[in-house]
Amino acid sequence: MADRDGKIWMDGQLVDWRDAKIHVLTHTLHYGCGAFEGVRAYNTVDGTAIFRLEEHTERLFNSAKILRMKIPFTKEEVNEAQKTVVRENKLESCYLRPLTWIGSQKLGVSPKGNQIHLMVAAWAWGAYLGEEGMKRGIRVKTSSYTRHHVNITMTQAKAVSNYSNSILANMEALDDGYDEALLLDASGFVSEGAGENIFVVKGGVIYTPDLSAGALNGITRNTILHIAKDLGIEVIQKRITRDEVYIAEEAFFTGTAAEVTPIRELDRIEIGSGSRGPITEKIQSAFFDIVNGRNPKYAHWLTKV
Ligand code: PMP
Repeated sequence: MADRDGKIWMDGQLVDWRDAKIHVLTHTLHYGCGAFEGVRAYNTVDGTAIFRLEEHTERLFNSAKILRMKIPFTKEEVNEAQKTVVRENKLESCYLRPLTWIGSQKLGVSPKGNQIHLMVAAWAWGAYLGEEGMKRGIRVKTSSYTRHHVNITMTQAKAVSNYSNSILANMEALDDGYDEALLLDASGFVSEGAGENIFVVKGGVIYTPDLSAGALNGITRNTILHIAKDLGIEVIQKRITRDEVYIAEEAFFTGTAAEVTPIRELDRIEIGSGSRGPITEKIQSAFFDIVNGRNPKYAHWLTKV
């Protein structure tokens, strides 16, 4: 990953990809306090555009606020940085990774006295859970790891440290032959995937865990709420149990990387027909219409680079 051509935006400057380095005594590397975003740009009918750029930047600043970090750039500067990185790397469609971290002036748990940094990188990234998974659905395992409790770590921050839990769950699922993990909250209710929100369909209604289960307030999740409304499908946010997923007619994951990925199996139990369901397919197709600029209603969600 570190050895490629291209440019990375680092603290206000475009730096050669291979030179975008930090010191080994970087505070965030030791203690995990930092925040990031995952954003996508699509090659829309109107040229390359970043999907819901403003909302992602807003969440990055909210994450930093929750972590008591003051980003030394404005939201406008961070938006511009993202557009610049896509343009400079001549990417038609890509994944963007803005990240803010605490510097290497001093170590010790207290980060006071350290500089706050920000970088934005971008690279081409296809379907996160595989093209095949997008059509056929993926196989998911309920994790033996519990999702963060809302007062242990801050679950509305897309915090670097939150991902050690995601990594453990994802590695366990892959080692056991699954494609992804589903995590339950500390009370045993469904929370989210290692890097995705979850939705289930039953009796023509869509259900998704409310955010008190510790799930990230996903921007794709919010996009699905809009799509469902447009399609006249009711969405209920509530506590969901693991067995409600087993007996759902359809289930799918959402996320910037995962987009809309059907789930065909949980813990070796087939969900519905064991393939992508009709409502999932409708949502998926409406989602790709929006991100690719084919739905004028949501043109304001696409920022041209
Ligand atoms: N939950 C977690 C833990 C995630 O990492 C992500 C990806 N950012 C999501 C949910 C989905 O969020 P979004 O749709 O904003 O990408």
